[in-house]
Amino acid sequence: MKKKSVLLIFTGGTISMGENPADRSLSPLNSGQVLANIPELNYLDVKISSDSFSPLIDSSDMQPENWVKICELIAENYENFDGFVVLHGTDTMSYSASAVSFMLENLSKPVIFTGAQLPVGVHRSDAKENLITAIEIAAAKNAKGDAIIQEVCLYFEEQLMRGNRTTKRNAEEFDAFASFNYPLLAKAGVHIKYFPEYCHYEKKKELKININLDNNIAILKIFAGINYNYVKNVLSTENLRAVIIETFGAGNAPTCEWLAELLTGANRRGIILFNVTQCRAGSVEMGRYATSHQLRRAGVISGRDITTEAAVAKLMFLLGQNTDNEQIKELLKVSLRGEMTVELRPKS
Ligand code: ASP
Repeated sequence: MKKKSVLLIFTGGTISMGENPADRSLSPLNSGQVLANIPELNYLDVKISSDSFSPLIDSSDMQPENWVKICELIAENYENFDGFVVLHGTDTMSYSASAVSFMLENLSKPVIFTGAQLPVGVHRSDAKENLITAIEIAAAKNAKGDAIIQEVCLYFEEQLMRGNRTTKRNAEEFDAFASFNYPLLAKAGVHIKYFPEYCHYEKKKELKININLDNNIAILKIFAGINYNYVKNVLSTENLRAVIIETFGAGNAPTCEWLAELLTGANRRGIILFNVTQCRAGSVEMGRYATSHQLRRAGVISGRDITTEAAVAKLMFLLGQNTDNEQIKELLKVSLRGEMTVELRPKS
């Protein structure tokens, strides 16, 4: 049987850093140096190749053009590999995994993001286990020879999660990511146990990449004591096309008149308003409390249980593809890549 092949895409972050033994300072390692730190990779029955950003970047510097680069590398190499592993800094990994999930259309191979809390060249590093298992998942096939995972995922500390459902939840612990609103797709213990009933499968079609993204969006976080000037300034941002309103609980905001007026005005000016809860788990339920009635009247759309990271990515993606606001609003209400809990969009 032909050996399975996986392409590693190095973007940067802690996972590809080493410690200088003299002064313990951290600096980026090239892909060869990272792989040399993990000799166990030689025992995997997988042909590993790699490509790399140059220079490697801290993920705080990730920009839409970097997401385009990741997608282009996957598309250029799509036919030649069974799966892809993206090595990425942890800080913005959930944003990147979400963005790439929207940008890659008709994906039928695994794209697994992973990283580490401690550099690969440090004794107690989590890089080794995360990378080795991510590669095994990217190469895994079922009995029929199909890839078990055919979507963009994030693997970290024994958990395989749908990428666009994840959030970085801890800056210190190895268990740094969570998928609060969607079950795990696999759990790694002695064996890697997959849960295909939760996986997303597209009809087999040619891979398409959507590289147009529009970042004219803002996040308006509602807080107790929020004031008029802050909201007005956010909604007056030049070229603004959409706003994620991070609301309390099940999608609630203060009932004051000035807020309703500012939001109604923004909606009339063609700014799309998208309601995402500040809670890590649970869902927006507009209309459940009186405190969300006025949002609905102002034209705010429910983001249900979408994460802020996925909402950012979905808006940039939809604004980049469409100019028609009504169409964008309709697409915000449906799940395109399993990013929120509603009926999946009927396939054409
Ligand atoms: N600042 C780093 C990054 O996101 C942190 C990490 O990789 O864990 O690139």
